[in-house]
Amino acid sequence: MKLTKSQRTALHAKFGGKCAYCGCELLKVWHADHIEAVKREFEFVKKGGIHVSQCTGVIENPHLDNLENLNPTCPQCNLYKHSMPLESFRRELSKQVERARKSSKNFQFAEKYGQVIVSESPIVFYFERFING
Ligand SMILES: [Zn+2]
Repeated sequence: MKLTKSQRTALHAKFGGKCAYCGCELLKVWHADHIEAVKREFEFVKKGGIHVSQCTGVIENPHLDNLENLNPTCPQCNLYKHSMPLESFRRELSKQVERARKSSKNFQFAEKYGQVIVSESPIVFYFERFING
């Protein structure tokens, strides 16, 4: 849905100007995330001699395209969450430490030398803390 300026202002303020998921301060560029993803219809069109995927503008579940189903997010969280339901997003986030341990020498050395201390605490989204006080 295309938000009006006042809807966008209200959405930005929903969690005190912070990302609903990580809680960082929203900067000039921020996204409106569909909490439960809308499914957009795509089609292939020929552009510059190649076929590219393009949104037709049709939403398959239009009942989810409303203000109550939107959260203000930083671009990083919104792009990573993509169309995942919240619990899938939470599960993906909880795998980050193990992935970094396996694949990042920087992380391995940072942990080895005490620069990173891993927490075993569960992933709690900012909006969950915001709502619960
Ligand atoms: Zn975020």
